[in-house]
Amino acid sequence: MTADNLSSVRERIANACLKAGVNPDSVLLVAVTKEAGISQIEEALRLGLKDMGENRAQDLVTKYRYIGDKANWHFIGHLQTNKVRDVVRIASLIHSVDSLKLAKEIDAQAAKIGKIQKVLIQVNTSGENTKFGVHPDEAIGLIKEASSYGSVEVEGLMTMAPEAEDPELARPYFRRLRELRDKINSLGITCKMLHALSMGMTNDFEVAIEEGSDILRIGRAIFK
Ligand SMILES: *Cc1c(COP(=O)(O)O)cnc(C)c1O
Repeated sequence: MTADNLSSVRERIANACLKAGVNPDSVLLVAVTKEAGISQIEEALRLGLKDMGENRAQDLVTKYRYIGDKANWHFIGHLQTNKVRDVVRIASLIHSVDSLKLAKEIDAQAAKIGKIQKVLIQVNTSGENTKFGVHPDEAIGLIKEASSYGSVEVEGLMTMAPEAEDPELARPYFRRLRELRDKINSLGITCKMLHALSMGMTNDFEVAIEEGSDILRIGRAIFK
């Protein structure tokens, strides 16, 4: 049941924050709804969750039709340029920008509706070729370019660690993302400092908090 799951997730987040010396209010929980139906999302809203994450554009559109702006929608999956128009109309934050072409299209679609679209750059910190995301070395160039667009605001970085039983195995990838953000800030690449780090899922969110995550994307632990 969502209520029990959610209270246990919240408790685990609070404990991890305590251990890491982090203020729990500074960590945003995004409930990943890709396996959840409308009634489960409504229940999550009643339980005080506000931020919902979807990884497919079509599902985002469908769920938005029912739930609307009662939720803050996050787009977290691979985004094709022909779906950008739909996603920009709905998403408060797009976590998965991984090419210049995509950033450009988001800028164009956001400009059309007078929106400044907040985005994160997805970084492939593991080098696995099955994962989406830019190579860390390419991230700086992409951020430099995207930050110059009028209707896109780059807020930070996102990554996914490779799937593993042992959450400790995710730590180097999360650390790499944080170090990359710090490097970008120290180089002064953007006029505004990047802050957001979107990292940590059901299997590894406690480790992500220890490594400085600001945004957790948790699905199975809530909607199982
Ligand atoms: C599914 C998904 C999640 C959530 O994964 P869980 O293991 O269910 O917590 C997080 N981020 C992305 C990009 C996803 O596709």
